[in-house]
Amino acid sequence: MLRSLKSKLWFIYRGLVWMKDNFFDNPKINSNIKSFSIGKTFNWEEIDCYSFWKWSEKILYFWWIHGNETGTVKLMNKWVNFVWEIESGTSFWNTQIFIIPCLNIDWYKQALKNPKYFSWWREGKTNAQDVDLNRNFPTFNWSPKSTLFAAGLYKEISWWTSPWSEWEIKALLNFIETEKVQTIYTFHNCWWTVFWRWTTSVNKKVKSYSKNSNYRVFADSEWDGLKPWQKTWQMMMWAEEKNIDVIEIEMKTRWWSEWELNKKALIKSLRI
Ligand SMILES: [Zn+2]
Repeated sequence: MLRSLKSKLWFIYRGLVWMKDNFFDNPKINSNIKSFSIGKTFNWEEIDCYSFWKWSEKILYFWWIHGNETGTVKLMNKWVNFVWEIESGTSFWNTQIFIIPCLNIDWYKQALKNPKYFSWWREGKTNAQDVDLNRNFPTFNWSPKSTLFAAGLYKEISWWTSPWSEWEIKALLNFIETEKVQTIYTFHNCWWTVFWRWTTSVNKKVKSYSKNSNYRVFADSEWDGLKPWQKTWQMMMWAEEKNIDVIEIEMKTRWWSEWELNKKALIKSLRI
C-alpha cells in the first residue's frame, strides 16, 4: 500500500520535472550572437565557442562533457545570453572570456531524445565512441582501463586506446593551449558542490563561487575518500600538471539550468 503510494508520488514528481524542464526552463542562445568553431565531434558536429571582450587574462567556461548532464548546457545558454547583453554596456573588463556551451554534442542530442525522466540514467555518460571524456585527459599516469561511475553504479570500460584520443578532447585542449587559457570553470551534476585542489588561486576562486552560489566546497577529506577511478585521468588532474586553475562545479540536478543559483557566482567570477 505504502509502496504503491510512493511509486505514484514518484511518477507525479517526475512528470512535473518533465514539464518544468521542457516548458519553463529551456533557454536557447540568442541567434544574433556570433560563435566560432573550435573543432568537430566524432559525428562531425561543430563545437561552438563564444568570445567576449579581449584581454590577456582568459577564462573559459565550458559545459557538458558528460552525456547525461543536460542542465549544464542550459546554464551555459543563459550565461552566453547574459554576457552578450552586458558586453556592450561595459567598456572595460580585465578579462577575455570564452564560453563553450556544449562539448559533447553527439550525446547531448541523444540525451535530449531519451531523457529518462522516470528512471535513473545509467547510460549515456560517454561520447559517441563510448569514452568518458573526463577520463581522456593526457595525465601522467593514464591507463587504458577505467571504471565508469554513473547513478551509483560502476561499469568497467576498457575500450579507450590512448589519452587525448577523442575529437572533442583534442579540440578542447588545442583551444586551451592556443589561447593560453589560465582559468577554467567546468560543470557537472549533481553533487551540489564546488571542487578545489592544489593552488591558492584555485582556492580563492572556489571559495568565492561557493559563497555566491551556496553550493558547498567539497572537503579535502571527501576527496581523499573517493575511489581512485573517480579522480584519475580527469581534467582537474591534467590541470594540476599544467598549472591551470580548474574549478569544477557540481550542480544539484541533471535537467535544470539553476540560473538563479549560479548567476551571482558567475558574475563574480569575471572579476577574480
Ligand atoms: Zn559529470
